[in-house]
Amino acid sequence: MAMFVPFFSLAEPLSANQQFFSSGVNYGLFFGFMLAVLLSNTVLYLMTKSRTFIYYTGVLATALLLILSWEPNHSGYLSNNWSWLKQDAAPSLLMAMLAFTLLFSNRLLHFKATAMLFHKGALLGVLILTVLAILVTVLPHTIALNIAFVGAVISALWLVAGMLYQIRTLQPSFRLLISKFYLVAVLSSSLVFGYVYLTAEKLPMLSALISGVFIHSLTLMIILGYGYGRDKRIKIEAQTEALEQAKQASQAQQALLELQQSQQEELEASVQERTFELEVTLRELEDKNRELEEKNTLDSLTGLRNRSYFDKKLLAEYRRSRREQTVLSLVMFDIDHFKNVNDTYGHPAGDDVIRVVASLASQVAKRPTDIVCRYGGEEFSMILPCTDSPGAYTIAEKLRAKLASQPIHTCAGPIDITVSFGVASMLGNRQQSEASLLQYADDALYQAKKNGRDQVWLSEEANLEAS
Ligand code: GH3
Ligand code: MG
Ligand code: MG
Repeated sequence: MAMFVPFFSLAEPLSANQQFFSSGVNYGLFFGFMLAVLLSNTVLYLMTKSRTFIYYTGVLATALLLILSWEPNHSGYLSNNWSWLKQDAAPSLLMAMLAFTLLFSNRLLHFKATAMLFHKGALLGVLILTVLAILVTVLPHTIALNIAFVGAVISALWLVAGMLYQIRTLQPSFRLLISKFYLVAVLSSSLVFGYVYLTAEKLPMLSALISGVFIHSLTLMIILGYGYGRDKRIKIEAQTEALEQAKQASQAQQALLELQQSQQEELEASVQERTFELEVTLRELEDKNRELEEKNTLDSLTGLRNRSYFDKKLLAEYRRSRREQTVLSLVMFDIDHFKNVNDTYGHPAGDDVIRVVASLASQVAKRPTDIVCRYGGEEFSMILPCTDSPGAYTIAEKLRAKLASQPIHTCAGPIDITVSFGVASMLGNRQQSEASLLQYADDALYQAKKNGRDQVWLSEEANLEAS
């Protein structure tokens, strides 16, 4: 500790110091610059809210006060009311400056993120220095200064160790660059102090110290300014990148949505197409079914409706007659002695006869609702809805007369034939069925045959039912 005593004895006014301070221009320039840096730092803090700037303002303010305390006669810059500054404040100011330096360096070097031990050590140092800055005010001046100097050496060593640790562990980066730069700054400051200490008698000590602080401030301002600009640039780049990514994500989402929509539309179109095709196929199938059903109801020889159709139709018309209370007539007719035709002229000629009878019967039953059927063999029927017995009789008689009046042209030549008719008419009712009507008509036909053929016989029983 004894070796430090000569250094602090320099705190006593020296001729070199007096020379520096005697030049009011130098002094004014220096303080003007320092105050400008101090002010700009404060403004930067207010603008950015970055504590690095306010800590550095603390460093500068305490450094300025420390230099003022060193100044031999304040050169008129401080009034006599500030004499306490020279006498007692130097050790406390030095420790305050060290505390701010630790806070500032800790933030500048990002110890918290890169060297936790040195971060905690720096904060502990700040605490100890703050307590000591208060305690040393009651100690004798020289002892207090020595304590402060030890604090300065430990603080400087701690920072240098922290920076060396960072240089060893950090990947090449901007932070590593700051560490190296700051290490050079701290080491060169220490060297200046050491050199000043060794050659104290030859150099204007205070002017060297002031020049050191001046250069130090300038370089740090450059670091801070560059660092701030770089942070801002990185932030803007990150924001731009994030924006770009968000844009890309939204574009991708939009593309996906469009794809989904087009797929959905395609699917719907294909379903519609299939449904349409299915409907067409179903309709075609229905048509074919209907055609088939139609064919099933036709008699191949005459083209008339067949027996099975007759059965269904007679039932349907009987029910309608019952519902609507309209008279339903049924005519059954049979070619007379047809067996003889076959026997005499052959079956093909017989077939021709059957065809002609069918055709003439269809011509006679003109109404769209009239239905002529081939009941079986050479026997036919006519269902005549909404036709009373005189009407049915007339139709039957008309057909009979037509067939009897002219020969039928067949493959075996003209053949004369006659036909017998049985006619029955009735109102549909619940007590009877369509079978009753058929029975009446059949009975009437039988009566016509029995009575000599070639005639129309009207069923009286059926007529009674109808009335
Ligand atoms: P009736 O006056 O009593 O009716 O005498 P019929 O000879 O006409 O009566 P019958 O029932 O005894 O004979 C019907 C004949 O009709 C018997 C059959 O050979 C003939 N026949 C039935 N269906 C057909 C057919 O599709 N074509 C031909 N050529 N003949 C048929
Ligand atoms: Mg017959
Ligand atoms: Mg017959």
